[in-house]
Amino acid sequence: MISRVDLHLHTTASDGQFSPSELVAMALERDLLVIAITDHDTTMGLAEALEAARGTGLEVIPGVEISCDVPHEEVHLLGYYFDHHHPALRGKLRAMRDARLRRAKGMLVKLAALGFPLPWEMVAELAGDGSVGRPHIAQSMLKMGYVASTGEAFDLYIGRNGPAYVERYKLSPSEAVSLVKEARGVPVLAHPLKVMHFLPSLVEAGLVGLEVYYNGYSAEEIRGLAALARKFDLVPTGGSDFHGPDVLDTVEMGGVWVPMESVERLRALAKKMRT
Ligand SMILES: [Zn+2]
Ligand SMILES: [Zn+2]
Repeated sequence: MISRVDLHLHTTASDGQFSPSELVAMALERDLLVIAITDHDTTMGLAEALEAARGTGLEVIPGVEISCDVPHEEVHLLGYYFDHHHPALRGKLRAMRDARLRRAKGMLVKLAALGFPLPWEMVAELAGDGSVGRPHIAQSMLKMGYVASTGEAFDLYIGRNGPAYVERYKLSPSEAVSLVKEARGVPVLAHPLKVMHFLPSLVEAGLVGLEVYYNGYSAEEIRGLAALARKFDLVPTGGSDFHGPDVLDTVEMGGVWVPMESVERLRALAKKMRT
């Protein structure tokens, strides 16, 4: 079944390969009807995407993917349909981006000590206008011939348990849920499979959706997550987490089937949040 919906996409505003307008053009080429731009800790790609989609019939949902502070686990909180000019949201995201920059520099220091010096200019150039992330460091390591693939860079050096990994300032998962709600948006737990134990506390904090349909999840895993979404009365959302083949060689945009009903439910909830 071909998906007409993709609610998890990254652009050059964070660590994606394609600009917001390129992504919109690709979505139109693939006959998608609804996409959400969900860059890491930034809403800076939204204006361009919304402008590019104007009058095309493609709905672009304003989104964000907030990295949360949980030791030894990757908890990412998606926000949809929020007011992306909201001052509290903008301020918090800016603090997180500043921390991201300091952290990338810290990882280069560690990599140099391990015998893999990387020029900061190379990493910064790969990041372009977007926020510097580990994929840019992985790409630089590949360019320098230190690793055979970007995956290897993560596995051996800059993954969470790697010798060059550096922690950074983040919100707790419940703080991220509250922030999205404060900006009158809809909070959804991203790629939840390994972090399901957070679900009850996040529901308590006001979570309204669960990313059930996701790149690499098996039919059985999707069934299990869909059942949990029903149990907690959460909207089952989904998306490809597309970054572009040069950044993360995984699934294509629109490559994960997501029901249109998810969008309808999210939209209805977002409307309720605003009134
Ligand atoms: Zn994520
Ligand atoms: Zn993502």
